[in-house]
Amino acid sequence: MAGKVLIAGAGASGLMAAVTAARAGAEVTVLEAMERPGRKLLLTGNGRCNLTNMDPELPLRYYGSGQRTARLLTGRFGAQEARRFFEGLGLLTTEKNGYVYPCSMQASAVLESFLTELRRLHVKLKLKERVRRAWREDGQSAREDSGASGIWKIQTDSWRYEADVLILACGSKCLPETGSDGTGYRIAAQLGHTVVRPGPALAPVTCEGSFLPAAAGVRSRAAVSLYRNKELIKSETGELQWTKYGVSGIVVFQLSRFIENGGKNGDSFWLSADLLPEFERAYLADLLKQRARKLPKEHAPALLGGMLHHKLIPVVLAGTLQAGKSAGQAKTPLCRDLTDDMLDAIAAQIKDFRLRVTGTKSFDSCQVCRGGVDCGEILADTLESRLHPNLYFTGELLDVDGPCGGYNLQWAWASGAAAGNAAAQKINSCSLTDCPGRAYGTQNQ
Ligand SMILES: Cc1cc2nc3c(=O)[nH]c(=O)nc-3n(C[C@H](O)[C@H](O)[C@H](O)COP(=O)(O)OP(=O)(O)OC[C@H]3O[C@@H](n4cnc5c(N)ncnc54)[C@H](O)[C@@H]3O)c2cc1C
Repeated sequence: MAGKVLIAGAGASGLMAAVTAARAGAEVTVLEAMERPGRKLLLTGNGRCNLTNMDPELPLRYYGSGQRTARLLTGRFGAQEARRFFEGLGLLTTEKNGYVYPCSMQASAVLESFLTELRRLHVKLKLKERVRRAWREDGQSAREDSGASGIWKIQTDSWRYEADVLILACGSKCLPETGSDGTGYRIAAQLGHTVVRPGPALAPVTCEGSFLPAAAGVRSRAAVSLYRNKELIKSETGELQWTKYGVSGIVVFQLSRFIENGGKNGDSFWLSADLLPEFERAYLADLLKQRARKLPKEHAPALLGGMLHHKLIPVVLAGTLQAGKSAGQAKTPLCRDLTDDMLDAIAAQIKDFRLRVTGTKSFDSCQVCRGGVDCGEILADTLESRLHPNLYFTGELLDVDGPCGGYNLQWAWASGAAAGNAAAQKINSCSLTDCPGRAYGTQNQ
């Protein structure tokens, strides 16, 4: 009889763990809190699912206490392995600039491929079963060299399950409407694991500025740098989206994970946006001076009409002219009234537009969480708990996060495969009599 593996969570990493463990001979049951599996998976890549990235340095891109673990496991099971795995499910993938998607460009195709394979492997998928608590009961121990002792009891709202091996794949607390509401952290903490404080990552950033409503809706190319006090943390170039509360877009998402504690821990975070990254500041200043001389009777905004989105022009000029030497002058002076110093200041403002950060948007608006189960308490090659044998963790529940672009799903695939495989091997190493693994379910009285 196959040993029993129970997986809490039918998201990206739980589905991967289920397929891997079942293929390796384990009897697998997946408990999913929601009425449908893979709800977050369906939202990925705007419904197209950017399922991995061909970046040759992908293993080096992860953050958190699990940085080294992610490096090891995504090095072992990387983008090529993920694409081959999906091909084995009949899901063909395509790549553009390193970003890998299903050829159908539908996240639903990824989920369907998993569900078809789960049916083929006779994996039991139980929906609307949110795990609340898990504990190990000793007595029916498995073989000593497997490191196991006792069976897992898993309590949901209505049922109690038993398993030889438990894999927690409950995700983070990002976008709780998809089912990942943070219960995974609570279960891990009940089991004595340290949970590094979770925070939103890949999130929009909120900023100070009465000008923001005027700029809202603009999407412009920019090089954006994040500073903590005077220290440059990181720079990104791409499409910057202006909103009424601050800024968003992939460039901002990539920086948001560095705004620790939502920017509320006493440090001062701010962004510097270079609104014309292809052009040098001196070149822009010269161009503005030439244009000002040619257009003496035009108002200052005419100078910038061919350079910036029209909604950004008053924002840039207001910042410059109000703070500059023009105090007391009209807000939109004529070009002939602009001194060289003022034109230099406009060029400087375009190249270094500053936004004071007040925080990030919450868990409702982020794409992943930073923080999670401390990977110092997890074996790097198998993802087994160092505190409890036969307990494994996968995906975003662990303190690992990656940038936008397929890296987080790649972590889900790599970690799900590692834990699923290790769990099945653990079970296969048990003799028939030693592995208790009785089938599940005693109704909660
Ligand atoms: C809008 C959006 C777009 C994204 N796009 C991309 C992208 O294109 N590429 C990319 O790489 N990454 C993307 N991500 C990130 C990626 O989706 C996640 O990193 C990944 O889904 C994490 O997988 P997971 O298995 O750890 O968690 P999840 O996918 O969140 O799955 C966790 C599952 O566990 C269930 N669950 C939670 N608690 C319990 C419990 N107590 N008992 C039972 N079940 C439970 C949940 O209902 C859920 O189904 C995106 C995220 C969002 C929000």
